[in-house]
Amino acid sequence: MSQEAIITKREDPATAAAVHYVGVDLGGTTITAGAVNVVSGQVLGRQQIPTLGKEGPDAVMARMVDLVHAIIADAGLRQEDVGGIGVGLPGVLDMERGITVFLPNLPGGWRNVPLKATMEAGTGLPTYLLNDVRSFTLGEKTFGAGRDVDTLVCVAIGTGIGGGMVISGKLHMGLDGTAGEVGHQVIDPYGPPCGCGSRGCLETFASGPAITSMALKAISHGRMTKIAEMVSYDLNQVTPEIVCRAAQAGDPVAKDIYERAGFYLGVGIANLITIISPQMVVIGGGVAQAGDLLLEPVRRTIRERVHVTPLEKVQIVPAELGTNAGLIGAAVWASLQAAPEKADSD
Ligand SMILES: [Zn+2]
Repeated sequence: MSQEAIITKREDPATAAAVHYVGVDLGGTTITAGAVNVVSGQVLGRQQIPTLGKEGPDAVMARMVDLVHAIIADAGLRQEDVGGIGVGLPGVLDMERGITVFLPNLPGGWRNVPLKATMEAGTGLPTYLLNDVRSFTLGEKTFGAGRDVDTLVCVAIGTGIGGGMVISGKLHMGLDGTAGEVGHQVIDPYGPPCGCGSRGCLETFASGPAITSMALKAISHGRMTKIAEMVSYDLNQVTPEIVCRAAQAGDPVAKDIYERAGFYLGVGIANLITIISPQMVVIGGGVAQAGDLLLEPVRRTIRERVHVTPLEKVQIVPAELGTNAGLIGAAVWASLQAAPEKADSD
């Protein structure tokens, strides 16, 4: 779309498709939101507030409504300039009815919460829901690392391992939007039990908690490592970030832990490459901030395991949008839902 077309549209709001959508990324600890220009990717009026999930869905939704109003004002927009709201959510949704089915990281699980209707009543703006990692994927595809390719896989490594796929330019949703659960592919059929009900899922080997638990195990087995000293022997303070810092300082146990996590991640991503044959794999999430410490064993394992897909055509890259990816993707999702004809004509 040319700059001229945007200006023309904004001067004639009666017939124009809106350029700004509010994206909200609801997490277990924080809510991050902003007004997104879905043509340029620019984020205006970004805010991050605590979720305070213990107060229950009604209080959290009231806070989200207030947040949307505040962001629209901060961004210098009027209500009628905004095309709608996209909300990225950490869990299972009924997208047709606009309700949450189960958000495991929020107290009470948010079973059957009418989020769409509540946001629409509170803001007067059409609201659309999307899983948070699918939002991350759509954000990275549209304005981040994946903007120049049309088939990609995203892997987000944090408390869990989530993901998403864009196939031939389109976010692949699968049944009820459940496609892309890359962390629940089985890597070891006899591995540890996973929160999803299966065993040996990738998430049990390479997520943040998996890295922390490898560190605690090494310490309790009396292996020589600086990790315990780095947290003044308060083992509750061990995090993937601490293990990462120990590894970067040359600690062999910590290096070994990232090597193992990277190996399992590499096996999982090799499976995805073999099946989907993407142009790009985008790796993001908090744990991925370890950078090459994690990506080097991932890339090495992929080279060892992928023999059918032409690997020289597959880029393995870090995510680019940081903590804005989710809110940007949610806003883009809302724009695609609110004005699908625009998506078709582009
Ligand atoms: Zn699982």
